[in-house]
Amino acid sequence: MAHLPVSEIQLADHFGPHLAYARGVRLECGVEPDKLVKTHCCFCGQQCGIQLKVKGNEVIGFEPWEEFPFNRGMLCPKGVKRYLQDSHPDRLTTALMRDPREPGGFRRTPYTDAIQATADAIAKLQSEHGSSAFAMLSGASLTTEKTYLMGKFARVCLKTPYIDYNGRLCMVSAGAANKKAFGIDRAANPWSDIIGTEVVWISGANVAECAPITTNYVWQAREQGAKIIVVDPRITPLARTCDLFLPVKPGRDIALFNGVLHLMIQNDWIDHKFIETHTVGFEAVAESVQSWTPAKTAEVTGIAERSIRQAAEWWGQASTSFLMHARGIEHHSHGVQNVLGAINIVLASGRIGRPQCGYATITGQANGQGGREHGQKCDQLPGMRDLSNPEHRAHIARIWDVSPDDLPGPGVDAYEIFRKIDQGEIRGLLSICFNPVVSLPDNDFIARMLDKLDFYVAIDFFLNDSAQHADIVLPGSLQEEDEGTVTQIEGRVIRINQAVDPPGDARQDWRIIQDIAAALKRPHGFTFTEPREIFDELRRASQGGIADYSGITYEKIEQQFGVFWPCPSEDHPGTLRLFEKGSDNPIARGNGPFYFPDGKARFNQADYTPPKEDVDAEFPIILTTGRVVSQFLSGTQTRRIGPLVDQYPEPRLEIHPQLAARLQIADGDWTTITSRRGEITLLALVVKSIRPDTVFIPYHWAGPLSVNRITIAAQDPISKIPEYKVCAVRLTKAAAPPDGRFERTASGLASNGKGGRSA
Ligand code: SF4
Repeated sequence: MAHLPVSEIQLADHFGPHLAYARGVRLECGVEPDKLVKTHCCFCGQQCGIQLKVKGNEVIGFEPWEEFPFNRGMLCPKGVKRYLQDSHPDRLTTALMRDPREPGGFRRTPYTDAIQATADAIAKLQSEHGSSAFAMLSGASLTTEKTYLMGKFARVCLKTPYIDYNGRLCMVSAGAANKKAFGIDRAANPWSDIIGTEVVWISGANVAECAPITTNYVWQAREQGAKIIVVDPRITPLARTCDLFLPVKPGRDIALFNGVLHLMIQNDWIDHKFIETHTVGFEAVAESVQSWTPAKTAEVTGIAERSIRQAAEWWGQASTSFLMHARGIEHHSHGVQNVLGAINIVLASGRIGRPQCGYATITGQANGQGGREHGQKCDQLPGMRDLSNPEHRAHIARIWDVSPDDLPGPGVDAYEIFRKIDQGEIRGLLSICFNPVVSLPDNDFIARMLDKLDFYVAIDFFLNDSAQHADIVLPGSLQEEDEGTVTQIEGRVIRINQAVDPPGDARQDWRIIQDIAAALKRPHGFTFTEPREIFDELRRASQGGIADYSGITYEKIEQQFGVFWPCPSEDHPGTLRLFEKGSDNPIARGNGPFYFPDGKARFNQADYTPPKEDVDAEFPIILTTGRVVSQFLSGTQTRRIGPLVDQYPEPRLEIHPQLAARLQIADGDWTTITSRRGEITLLALVVKSIRPDTVFIPYHWAGPLSVNRITIAAQDPISKIPEYKVCAVRLTKAAAPPDGRFERTASGLASNGKGGRSA
């Protein structure tokens, strides 16, 4: 088992997760805040506008920001309680050095000593094993300025090809498919285009829990007469109010899209003029879906034939529509193919690039969009440029004042970085805004790999589950302690405003990175004094690229409630809607609206293949995973916010009554879920809202409660996204809770057994 400096329970005693509730000044209604700071929620990709109430150097509450157009003051439970992460008892306020003699496993260390020790360890490791022996893992909740700096730091300061980010677990299948079909990776339409459409199609997106404010757009569309089609293995909260629910068997989405396209072609519900004028590749795709009759589609997907026909008829005959999808179709070993299948039915309809004719993926993380545009991906340079393209390398090298020959080539995806640790090729790691020991599949392997490293430094504001394995932890910044920009779900670049200063020795993350560069005696290019300077360099770096931010300024963002990229000049208002008739882009140069030299979108054949690990006699049940509304990603923040934990304290196994009865499992029974990777034991939650052949577990918890101990590390061959949405398991009723499960007691946390992973 993985090696921590002290036991999990000792770590939890010192570093949490402890629960924060509103107390003291936060409960006193009469207290006047010193200021209200207009900014955005720190959690999901919708980036709702919010006003933080600040008293002294503390966020004491919030008020709605009703003018911000996306959410008009509305927030979900996470947004309402997000202020409780500020002044949290678990907040890291000093640097930490691993020290098993300390009761908490870490010794508090002066910041400058920790920075120098980090630089010395990196320099030693790179001089002995080469630059590429050190890797970086970054995150898509960082501001765009920071993501830009991370990519530059890896390539210019550390000279390593090995940097990737946790968007690899999120939006990359959609990004890769969008680039294949449209040549650009951004939501095609603003969310206001959802309202007034005739049909809203939602595939693999638990909108009400994962993107709650989008529910309001869908319901407004419904109130104006739209038909709502939801495709999901579970009757999600939004599905309960839809017009047509298609309960797809996990891993079979391509079959459904192909079956719908088959019916569209058969009934001539396609836009011939659009296809002829604006696309290529339709004939080959039409031929490829010939075999997808309604009967065959029903057999593969598990959806009734009449429902498939009804969906095709509504979609095919509509004159306006909006198709959205999310991780439900993207987290697959054929995630890119799934998305291409969805895009094919959009292109065949001709309904894109016009008001109320929309298509988008629903981004997950706060900066899920901006975080995948400016160079922290393993193969990318700023502006969505390609690290293997000589012209792109030359442009960025000029901005960075280095030789193009000095820029490393493309690296590998986040999971592959761990395989390279296993092979001994990578021996050192810096992580920020990434908690791989919870969020990557087969995560006992990930924990072992962290402990195999010669040197691991983590930057974070709480000691997350991965940072517990680190040699050095540097205290970074909460979202409200820094400023910058993020790009939200629609492609709108918005401002994050600083509300409070980092406490104690904690520093803004970009300062920490620059301090390491200085301690390494490689400061060239890392002497920014504020985020605005980083943004100005990013603007120049992105100029002429697909994700062109060169015309965006902090002032313009404030004036316009955000600026939609591309925005190629300061007098350009930004691009609200992509692919509009007559719209220009730097790739097509007037030949058409899509981002290819001929200006045409691409149909792509989307062939059905079963999941990498389908059910069999030994593991006869499908496991799928996802989120709950009160938690976010690996739970580093939300598992520390009392009211959110109270709302849904720990993961449950959702199981249909038929399957539960067959296995003699009752609601509330401890149930062991076993896959080829291992097993976990959770309480059963018997619900009618799931297919009888499938069980569901949310993924926000660590250790014995982590579903990613049993998920499969299969990946999409193009996007490298892991297959979180399907693997095969068996279930058995358990006699007792698992060892190592923490119980909450009046005095804090206590282990119920032997203590999980050992010290
Ligand atoms: S988590 Fe998302 S939906 Fe909820 S308040 Fe924050 S940004 Fe809005």
